[in-house]
Amino acid sequence: MSKLIKEKENIEKTNGSVQLKSSLTKWQYSPAPESTDHIHLEKQYGLFINNQFVKPLSGKYFDTINPATEEKIAEIAEADEKDVDKAVQAAKTAYEKYWKKLPAKEKAKYIYRIARMIQERSRELAVIESMDGGKPIRESRDIDIPLAANHFFYYAGWADKLQYAFSNRNPQPIGVTGQIIPWNFPLLMAAWKIAPALACGNTVVLKPAETTPLTALKLAEIIRDCDLPPGVVNIITGAGKTGAAIVKHPLVNKIAFTGSTEVGKIIQKAIAGTNKKLTLELGGKSANIIFDDAPINEAVEGIINGIFFNQGHVCCAGSRLFVQESVYDEVVRKLKHRMKSLIVGDPLDKNTDIGAINSKQQLEKIHYYLDLGIKEGASIYQSDCKLPSKGYFCPPTLFLETSQSHRIVQEEIFGPVLTIQTFRTVEEVIEKANNTPYGLAAGVWTDKGSKIFNMTSKMRAGVVWANTYNKFDPTSPFGGYKESGFGREGGLHGLLPYLNL
Ligand code: ADP
Repeated sequence: MSKLIKEKENIEKTNGSVQLKSSLTKWQYSPAPESTDHIHLEKQYGLFINNQFVKPLSGKYFDTINPATEEKIAEIAEADEKDVDKAVQAAKTAYEKYWKKLPAKEKAKYIYRIARMIQERSRELAVIESMDGGKPIRESRDIDIPLAANHFFYYAGWADKLQYAFSNRNPQPIGVTGQIIPWNFPLLMAAWKIAPALACGNTVVLKPAETTPLTALKLAEIIRDCDLPPGVVNIITGAGKTGAAIVKHPLVNKIAFTGSTEVGKIIQKAIAGTNKKLTLELGGKSANIIFDDAPINEAVEGIINGIFFNQGHVCCAGSRLFVQESVYDEVVRKLKHRMKSLIVGDPLDKNTDIGAINSKQQLEKIHYYLDLGIKEGASIYQSDCKLPSKGYFCPPTLFLETSQSHRIVQEEIFGPVLTIQTFRTVEEVIEKANNTPYGLAAGVWTDKGSKIFNMTSKMRAGVVWANTYNKFDPTSPFGGYKESGFGREGGLHGLLPYLNL
């Protein structure tokens, strides 16, 4: 149900055509919250080891809270080194005893079963994802959960075809893999990590981020209900210390990490000199480039999608916008106009475009950069949307009049904050876009195919989207250049880090 409110009667007629000015009309939607009646959450969660939830040997628990309400949702076990050892031993035994020996076709059936069960429980998973992480339900429902299921489906298909993927080679599993994931796509990142590891015949110890453990623990329930042999997947919770204990455990043969560049560097140092394999998917400061021949309305939608949806909590977010000078005014005008219609608020409301910032700490980091941008001399624009009185929220923000040397242009903010610069020539924008320590993704908007090919070959970024942004598919490899990490996840390339050839 919705009501059209005409903010002002400001419709002007010019040359016989109707032009809508400034604030135009704004749709006000009645609240449409997703029901939480159907979900079941425990008050306290243990560690998932050998297909059972067990109390942590550490005896310690921490709270996971709903960032939109600041209310506690559940208590989560904090694993210490002994707990990590228990999980790794379980994974090692499961590898030797069951998983290594199981025919590939049978492994595929288990992975396929996980995918089906994620689909069956998708509504519950989507609601929990939004409650625990703050992302809008539209996104967890339509992107995170379906993509997570698709990753399991896709890699189930590879399990018995590894010798065709790497012909004339002898693909063999690695053993126990340690996987550490961040809070921006909690279930999806778990799927990215677990599905290829299992398909390649490895066993798993996975640690979700401390602010978003719940969907990983729900996945643990699914794995238990799928009757996976005990110990094949172990999910343990905790913060940085728990992650570090996984990294240094001698029985872990491979580390897959997604998170900050800072922690990625710590992990790289920690495993130097060992023969552990490593893949790192780290930070980003991705360029979204709009040429003057681009379809501007679509490009504006792509900019919004690239940085504002999911609160900018995307490592490949299009956080640096480059607009060709001749269309700068038009793009900025349309962008500001579109920003006015973005709804910031309750993540469980189906109309919400921008949900809650994941944690108080992250909101403080974003505020630090908002202050810094002003100090650096950039001009700030924020839509005047109403923010809820409780919870961690940030309005969508533009920084105009920025330059390459500004820290807000160089450093990852991980919030709904977009910096804008102009350019004149292709050479200039390539140089500016590549002038960053990162290299995760980029977007190019133009109607010239030749320009797209030219740009994609010169951009130092793992993914370059053309006339779209933030599109993911399990068949397509994803990963970075430079300080955005190394190794690829997704597609056939995503099998490589989990195999000895
Ligand atoms: P973000 O800045 O996105 O929170 P982090 O890199 O801090 O990213 O965290 C990503 C994941 O890495 C989380 O699961 C976190 O608990 C874990 N982590 C943090 N510090 C370490 C560490 N020193 N070793 C291993 N894992 C860590």
